[in-house]
Amino acid sequence: MSEKVACRWPLFCLLVCVIGLVEGRPSIREDPITTDDPRCGYESCHPTKPNMLNVHLIPHTHDDVGWLKTVDQYYYGSETLIQKAGVQYIIDSVVDALLRDPNKRFIYVESAFFFKWWREQTSELQEKVKMLVNEGRLEFIGGAWSMNDEATTHYQSVIDQFAWGLRRLNDTFGECGRPRVGWQIDPFGHSREMASMFANMGFDGMFFGRLDYQDKDNRLMTKTPEMIWHGSANLGETSDLFTGALFNNYQAPAGFCFDILCADQPIIDGKHSPDNNVKERVDTFFKFVTRMAESYRTPNLLLTMGEDFNYQNADMWYKNLDKLIKYANERQANGSNIHLLYSTPSCYLKSLHDAGITWPTKSDDFFPYASDPHAYWTGYFTSRPTLKRYERDGNHFLQVCKQLSALAPKKAAPFEPHLTFMRETMGIMQHHDAVTGTEKQKVALDYAKRMSVAFRACGTNTRSVLNQLSTNEGAQPGRRRRSAYPFEFKSCSLLNISSCSVSESNEPFAITLYNPLAHPANEYVRVPVLGYNYVVTDYNGAELNTQVVPVPAGVSKIKHRASVAKYELIFLASDLPPVGYKTFYVQKSDTDRGHMNPSSAPRKTSSLISIGNKDLQLLFDTNGFLTEIQADGMARTISQEFLYYVGAIGNNEEFLNRSSGAYIFRPLDNKVYAVATQVDVEVYKGHLVEEVHQKFNDWISQVVRVYRDKPYAEFEWLVGPIPIGDRKGKEIVTRFKSDIQSNGVFYTDSNGREMIKRKRDHRDTWNLKLHEKIAGNYYPVTTKIALEDDTARMAILTDRAQGGSSLEDGALELMVHRRLLHDDAFGVGEPLNETEYGDGLIARGKLHLIYGQPIQKAIERQTQLETLLPPWRFFSSMSAYTVDEWRTSFKNIYTGITRALPEQVHLLTLEPWHENELLVRFEHILEKDEDPLLSKTVQFNINDILNTFNIEDIRETTLDGNAWLYDTHRMEFVPDAEEDDSYNNYAIFAKSVKEVHLLSAQKPLLATKYLDEALPAGELGAESNRLKRKTQREPFEREKPSNTIKKSPLSGDDDTKFIIELAPMQIRTFVVYLEKST
Ligand SMILES: [Zn+2]
Repeated sequence: MSEKVACRWPLFCLLVCVIGLVEGRPSIREDPITTDDPRCGYESCHPTKPNMLNVHLIPHTHDDVGWLKTVDQYYYGSETLIQKAGVQYIIDSVVDALLRDPNKRFIYVESAFFFKWWREQTSELQEKVKMLVNEGRLEFIGGAWSMNDEATTHYQSVIDQFAWGLRRLNDTFGECGRPRVGWQIDPFGHSREMASMFANMGFDGMFFGRLDYQDKDNRLMTKTPEMIWHGSANLGETSDLFTGALFNNYQAPAGFCFDILCADQPIIDGKHSPDNNVKERVDTFFKFVTRMAESYRTPNLLLTMGEDFNYQNADMWYKNLDKLIKYANERQANGSNIHLLYSTPSCYLKSLHDAGITWPTKSDDFFPYASDPHAYWTGYFTSRPTLKRYERDGNHFLQVCKQLSALAPKKAAPFEPHLTFMRETMGIMQHHDAVTGTEKQKVALDYAKRMSVAFRACGTNTRSVLNQLSTNEGAQPGRRRRSAYPFEFKSCSLLNISSCSVSESNEPFAITLYNPLAHPANEYVRVPVLGYNYVVTDYNGAELNTQVVPVPAGVSKIKHRASVAKYELIFLASDLPPVGYKTFYVQKSDTDRGHMNPSSAPRKTSSLISIGNKDLQLLFDTNGFLTEIQADGMARTISQEFLYYVGAIGNNEEFLNRSSGAYIFRPLDNKVYAVATQVDVEVYKGHLVEEVHQKFNDWISQVVRVYRDKPYAEFEWLVGPIPIGDRKGKEIVTRFKSDIQSNGVFYTDSNGREMIKRKRDHRDTWNLKLHEKIAGNYYPVTTKIALEDDTARMAILTDRAQGGSSLEDGALELMVHRRLLHDDAFGVGEPLNETEYGDGLIARGKLHLIYGQPIQKAIERQTQLETLLPPWRFFSSMSAYTVDEWRTSFKNIYTGITRALPEQVHLLTLEPWHENELLVRFEHILEKDEDPLLSKTVQFNINDILNTFNIEDIRETTLDGNAWLYDTHRMEFVPDAEEDDSYNNYAIFAKSVKEVHLLSAQKPLLATKYLDEALPAGELGAESNRLKRKTQREPFEREKPSNTIKKSPLSGDDDTKFIIELAPMQIRTFVVYLEKST
């Protein structure tokens, strides 16, 4: 944000400016503006008319960053037989139309597409587009790299993709390129964390399209589709976000799609034309907006005039909109009180704000989303489990790559483009048809390919930096120079099926563990190897204790696993330095090092099997199933098994015939089937880990393990190929059943952060009528699902997004894999039948079970972090170095920060930003009541942590890193004083529910109860005159100055200290200015 923007709180601003601006610091980009007086945003809105119903026409296009076609196919417009969609033509055509008429408006959302287009334009046209942006004629909305999904995305990746999209807009357009409004019109349900993130990025509001059909009916009936959403249970008003549900998803009113892709009638105004339809068109339009106005509180309506990939021929739209506006507004001369105008979501939001009324509030979220009684969009929580895991791996490696790029002593030329390629690929992956698994198979493969290229690109960065660091900045080049660097630092992407070419050779190799957390880490490392006699040596020359277990039978038999490794070598890498690495040297030993060929303990059919450590024991019954857990001083009943649902099959022509598919989960007859009554087990016990290898059937197996000093049990499942010989699609779940009295209540995380309370067969905001007892109780689990009573708590952490539920008290289930044979008719046009190597796709993943007293939440939070960002494993061949040469010639331990962060603080981001800048985020990882000690506000000195960098200055920004925090002022909206009867103040129409119901297909399924609550009659014209409820509330207060960086009053000039405070769940973002290297 430009510093030219005047400060509304001069005193506060002065204070911060004096601290922040010791001298003319580089700001976050000045406006590269062509006009002296940019009038974008709220200043560029066309005026509305008082005492009229103002209809804000929003020309827009919804451009999926991949769905039925790949990203590039959409951009270039190829594969027209699949979908006639070419984004480059859209932007070409819209810009041309906007340049010809200053009255017109357009919004653009997806930065991934926009900047692809931008690169290809001449500087002359770029200047013209800047003019359009500066004058508010072309407005960026949302602005992230893609319009991210909200159920299956992790907050770290969402923040990253907003940071990047908004940065590109800021770098290119300055202040006028900064979106003010979130635009989540297509994602399939909405998370509370997303609202919180929008608020903390400084957005004034957000609009969305999809919510449960019952919720929507209810809201439209009660004039509550627009609300203040409390985005956080911890952060207070700073996380409140004005949020509006759109009336007609994001489509134009029926009959008013003027796109080249639509078949609706244009407006025919030839005076003597026999086809002249002006009167009919305007009448129909007025009927629509009059009906719509009944559901909204102010005399302003937002009409989305566009659809998927609309405006490839923008003139068709604009020409007809011009006529519609003209003929509709002409009627004002004859007493009409309807006014049409070109507008944008932010101009609409401003009108709502200026109406000065109060708004309802909301504290839960919009999950799950049902579009009809039998279409619960809860299947996509799990769809394409391997792509979902790959995406999470991508986030993991992106963070590693960012950190190492920030720590690089020397940056080679392609450094920045490599990192940016990975940033942008991860931005694409967040799209609501990417990580969701709701794209066509070919598109999923394209996403995976992009990811693999991104891994390679960033891998050249990490290899360069690690070589520089381990050879002391290249001062001692290796003896054998196959390339410029001595070591490969190779990532093995198939470690999850115990395969890695470097460790599977007979040569010695090194494994470098890079710890991206700002705390020391202890990691049990598993490495695929050929035999069972190995020596692992650390940087001091000490030999480590090791254990060897066989690769599980289920993994060995995977047909396409091109690996000769039969064993996994395990050792404990302890005290891995924060934001740093340790390297270990591994070599085969000829002499027996005391390792026995690992053999399973004989299975005694008559007695229980147990595995565990001193704090945690798992017992298995004689059938091989988990039966008891001993933890935290308790011995409690628990079971775990695999089950499956059969996907419903139907022709989708009516609700009752809905199929289970990529989006929809619909189990046939709500029945679940067990996969086994007897489980084959092998038990392996050593001094580092004890594990049970379970085989449930030919296509489901699992390893349950407990490490010597970890507080959790690990369940590593292997599912697939899911058989379809019986022509039945199957959806596989694992279910943990405990004796905890959970009373229908369980908790799921919101994008990996705050937990949200769920109650079976219940929604907080309306009286639920559930027609799908199982699917309708499924919620997105990004990282955690839990339940508890007064005595015990069971939490399960996932390694990727999955759907989950508690269908009976004490039980938690997660859907791990699905293979279906029918499409669910929401557009993707393919059954979700993933295959690889000619057979059903095999998926493998891990769950972490944490069981104990209800007070264990801090352990869960820390384990969540360790699960998300464990040390990254880099492998290098050591055939050129003996262990002694390796030890004496190279730097095998390194940390990039001066001191570890406090236990409850996470270094969420450390990345190179602009030249000589770092972007840094600190996060408090606990909620306010999760732990008596760690949930407190915490204070630390940034300079103590980042002292390895030559810091010149530090300035705080909004969450996205592109606007100064002190300079950011959000619009204030005032909540209703009393929520229970608030709608009566605005309700002025009485209409039967049938007329309002918006489902295109027959029968409203709402009970008639709304009819009984008929609202008092009134007239539209009265709308703008009604009395507004006065609010008792004081104006919204921005954050207190104490919440910004303060200089320690004790410090001298040369010892500037930057002490910051973090409250529970708070994230604070800083741009760190580094001294220019000479
Ligand atoms: Zn979409």
